Amino acid sequence: MRLRNVKGSREQIAENEFVIKNAEQNKGKWAEVFQDGRPIHLEIGMGKGKFLMEMARLHPDIHYIGIEKYSSVLVRALEKMEEEPLSNIHFLRMDAEYITEYFAPGEVEEIYLNFSDPWPKERHAKRRLTSRQFLARYDEILKPEGRVIFKTDNRGLFDFSLEEVQEAGWILDYHTFDLHHSEYLEGNVMTEYEEKFVQKGNPICKMVIHRQKTPE
Ligand code: SAM
Repeated sequence: MRLRNVKGSREQIAENEFVIKNAEQNKGKWAEVFQDGRPIHLEIGMGKGKFLMEMARLHPDIHYIGIEKYSSVLVRALEKMEEEPLSNIHFLRMDAEYITEYFAPGEVEEIYLNFSDPWPKERHAKRRLTSRQFLARYDEILKPEGRVIFKTDNRGLFDFSLEEVQEAGWILDYHTFDLHHSEYLEGNVMTEYEEKFVQKGNPICKMVIHRQKTPE
C-alpha cells in the first residue's frame, strides 16, 4: 500500500504528537518513557492503522506502537487518530529492518504482522516480514514468552512462513488456513486488508508463534 506524493506528509509527521520522534534514543528505556508498566505490542506494517486503533480501544492496559515504512501511508493513520485520540497508541515511521536499533532485548511483548507485503521474487525472500532474518530480529527484542501473530490471505507467503518458523526453531501455538471458518475466530479484530479479502471470499490464514524457551 503506497500512497504517493501526499503533500507535506513528512512535515505532518514531524509535528504530530502521536508519532514518537528520535525513537532510537528510547532503546532500552521504553519503560521509563511510558512510566506506567504497561506492556508494549507492535504492529509492523500497520498501513492506515484500523486494526491498531481497534486493539488500543479494546485494551487500554497495553501500549500499541504502529510501525509503518511510508510517510504517505502513516499520515492516513494520523488523520484517523485526530477523530478519536487514544493515549495508548503511538506511531513510528521506520523500516522494520532496523527494529533492533529501536528496541532492546525483552522490551516487546507481542508483534502483529497483518497482510504483510509478499515479495514474490525468491531473491527478495529476506525482505518478507516472516523470513528467518526477520524472525531473528524479533527474537532479539521480544520478552521470553513473547509471541508473533501473523495473518494473511496469501497462501504462498503463509506456506513460506511455516517453513521459516520451523527453520528458525520457533514453535507454532496454532495455525489455520481458514480463520473465518475456524475455532480461532472469536475475538478476531479485522484489519483493513482483511475486510477487503473476506468480502471477496478469500480464506484468511493465521499463525501464532513463540520461541523455544531456553532451560534455566
Ligand atoms: N496491516 C495493514 C492491513 O492489514 O490492513 C496494511 C497491510 S499493507 C499490504 C502492508 C503495509 O506494510 C504497507 O503499508 C507497507 O508500507 C508496510 N510495510 C511493508 N514493509 C515494511 C517494513 N519493512 N517496515 C515497515 N512497514 C512496512
